[in-house]
Amino acid sequence: MSTPTLTHWAAGAELPGTGDRFADVTNPATGEVTARVPLASSSDVEAVVAAAKAAFPEWRDTSLARRTQILFAFRELLNSRSAELAAVITAEHGKVLADAAGEVARGQEVVEFACGMPHLLKGGHTENASTGVDVTSIRQPLGPVAIISPFNFPAMVPMWFFPIAIATGNTVVVKPSEKVPSAALWLARLWREAGLPDGVFNVLNGDKVAVDGLLTHPDVRSVSFVGSTPVARYVYETGTAHGKRVQALGGAKNHMVVLPDADLDLAADQAVNAGYGSAGERCMAISAVVAVGGIGDDLVDRIAKRTVTLRTGDGTRGADMGPLVTAAARDRVSGYVDAGEAAGATLVVDGRQVSPDAGGAGFFVGPTLFDHVGTDMSIYTDEIFGPVLSILRVDTYDEAVALINANPYGNGTAIFTNDGGAARRFQNEVEVGMIGVNVPVPVPMAYYSFGGWKNSLFGDSHAHGTEGVHFFTRGKVVTTRWLDPARRAELPGGLNLGFPRND
Ligand code: NAD
Repeated sequence: MSTPTLTHWAAGAELPGTGDRFADVTNPATGEVTARVPLASSSDVEAVVAAAKAAFPEWRDTSLARRTQILFAFRELLNSRSAELAAVITAEHGKVLADAAGEVARGQEVVEFACGMPHLLKGGHTENASTGVDVTSIRQPLGPVAIISPFNFPAMVPMWFFPIAIATGNTVVVKPSEKVPSAALWLARLWREAGLPDGVFNVLNGDKVAVDGLLTHPDVRSVSFVGSTPVARYVYETGTAHGKRVQALGGAKNHMVVLPDADLDLAADQAVNAGYGSAGERCMAISAVVAVGGIGDDLVDRIAKRTVTLRTGDGTRGADMGPLVTAAARDRVSGYVDAGEAAGATLVVDGRQVSPDAGGAGFFVGPTLFDHVGTDMSIYTDEIFGPVLSILRVDTYDEAVALINANPYGNGTAIFTNDGGAARRFQNEVEVGMIGVNVPVPVPMAYYSFGGWKNSLFGDSHAHGTEGVHFFTRGKVVTTRWLDPARRAELPGGLNLGFPRND
């Protein structure tokens, strides 16, 4: 059977690539090449952006009532076919099906939030702000907007942005990761079925050429990027230098602090769930557990006992944990395990020799646990993005907070304790954007906003929630005086070059 060649999606239809560059898409559980994805040429960028530009005037003027009806239709379709999308995600990313279904559900929350756009877009009105003068604020869409997403959430991350962008009247170009292009194409078809006009939702497949094309294109008004920190910084700097509004979410190193009074069984369960879920390929994964006081041995023992019970394998066959996304990712993660061992950390559970229940040549590394990790070791300083959990030991709460605040990332963190005062202090003192108290992966609900601090986010706006609505709209304030012929004499007339004052 020949390998299918994917396309872009523009103006409601497949658009074949015009370039000669392609990338292989693989099933990470088997190593099999399942498709070839076109890597956009600059003329592909032009064609897809042109489709978004052409659709904008009519979509911008489509009533909010109609726009919302289409969003509701999209929601209903996605609810009835979410298992299909989960299977598309697992086939290219490798995460287990239940995890892929969870990703779809979290993306769907943003669609549901965007269904309330008529309320969210209401402006303000002040009657008689100055004598006979009224003031109204309105928010309007930007135009064609770009969404550039990473491999680890093929559906949810684009869905952090596009429901809100579309509901507020923008047209969208999604540039998915070239490792997982099919989810975005699947969503494009679903939008068409939901009745979205052609050209409002488009997909541009590709790599750096596609990203650079979007960052510099004069018709692209904003860029929402999610990916690794070096690329996020580059996207922010390049996009803003080209006059665009940019939000660029970057990488992470998330700590879980366990205080001596915590329920250690709960903490151990959650460290395992948050460390190894999605094979650690989550920007909110816990990768460093900070054991405070004398609980280190006990906590490591409880985490290790749970870690060795996990079944690694094909995500469609009931495994707890799937493969890494590519052979390169597998080799990179194994390399970090080698480095941790060489640096003197204690390797408690070694995932390099895993026997996955998958057969074939998948990209597997099993759950790996290190104890006695030092802050100078690469397994601590770098974002590994794999199933490697590190335990660090400190004596006091203050040392734990200092350690987190010294880290260049600030995406998520969690504290496990039964002491409300300590938890309250932690949420106040820690320099991180998203905080969990006895909650290991504190991803905010859609009506709050998602985003980290420091090297985990470049730009001012976090994703979704009211910050998302603001990001995809710009404000106008209208000051109005209507002539009332019956009271003409009361109007200020005559010439006065002074700056207008309100009274
Ligand atoms: P990545 O940075 O390699 O790729 C992200 C996107 O940028 C992809 O669409 C890719 O095609 C493009 N890209 C890659 N290199 C580029 C370059 N040199 N110039 C221009 N564009 C380029 O990230 P990834 O490996 O796909 O995803 C994993 C990373 O994403 C991790 O660092 C993870 O923490 C981060 N992430 C962050 C969040 C968050 O909310 N902060 C969420 C998910 C993932």
